[in-house]
Amino acid sequence: MAEPVTVERAVYLMGTRTTLVVEAADRARALERLEALLQTLEQTEAELSTWRDDSVLSELNRRPVGEPLTLSPFLCRLWPRLVETYEQTDGAFDPTIGAWVEAWGVRTGGREPTAAERRMTPARTGLHLVRFDERRCIATRETAVSLDAGAFGKGAALGRLPDAAPGEAWLVDLGGQVAASGPSSRGPWTVALARPDRRSAPALELPLRDGSLATSGASERSWEVDGRWITHILDPRTGTPVVRAGTVTVWHADPLAADMLSTALYVMGADAGLMYATEQDLAAVFLLPAPDGGPVRIRATPAFSRRFEITRVP
Ligand code: AMP
Ligand code: MG
Repeated sequence: MAEPVTVERAVYLMGTRTTLVVEAADRARALERLEALLQTLEQTEAELSTWRDDSVLSELNRRPVGEPLTLSPFLCRLWPRLVETYEQTDGAFDPTIGAWVEAWGVRTGGREPTAAERRMTPARTGLHLVRFDERRCIATRETAVSLDAGAFGKGAALGRLPDAAPGEAWLVDLGGQVAASGPSSRGPWTVALARPDRRSAPALELPLRDGSLATSGASERSWEVDGRWITHILDPRTGTPVVRAGTVTVWHADPLAADMLSTALYVMGADAGLMYATEQDLAAVFLLPAPDGGPVRIRATPAFSRRFEITRVP
């Protein structure tokens, strides 16, 4: 039998460098599948991205308070999942973080919120402030909350890929989140997790056969403004940036779950996060820099240690 053919492509998508690798019986088929994967990612970005004015979520953000909006079928299926994780994580994951994202200037290099923003924003945060009619697929903002797809858009997009390339082996890396379908003909894919203190250096290598690894951390997107550190992940319960030195990675069969949960666990922090993840039997690992610049500390849940043989990169 002929050797399978591998094709690779790197594109700029979802605000990040994305790489796709597809293995198939022949080149034409591999290219066709790669194209299908790419189209699915682009389509999801068009629906969800709050960086684009024409997405459904941006439309919901613009809709006057109290005016219902019919969601796309995809977003309609997604919505209950967002609510479920919001509730289960006690609001550590909250897709209505948009008003705080704005107040801290997360998309514009960081700033201090104004006094008015500090006062008003708590009342504009909380997924329960959007009424959702599942049967009719209608969402209504009860107050001026602002949805932000930052912590679930990549996962939602990756979760749609198996339908786009059924039966083929592939790996898609969205930068911060990787998903795979089946091992390659040479075995599992190798995924490196970066050092929390130096993003360009790998700390661990993991063999990935399927499912998804999502990483949340502050190191790549933090700014010092007037002597205070601001980062892109915020604690919705306090409205403050969660500046921590470590990262957390979650493996889940469902990329959407991996994405939402890695953000939630990062907000909880290593101690509370590990306790939560262990109770829920989630596969999660915290990488914590050693104070003296030595080897990274690895704190994994039992489910993570069962799933992965962890290889440290020397
Ligand atoms: P991630 O990199 O998946 O952890 O997602 C972080 C992104 O999600 C940020 O850049 C914000 O756009 C948004 N975000 C920040 N904090 C939260 C939070 N606590 N819950 C949900 N989304 C958040
Ligand atoms: Mg996330």
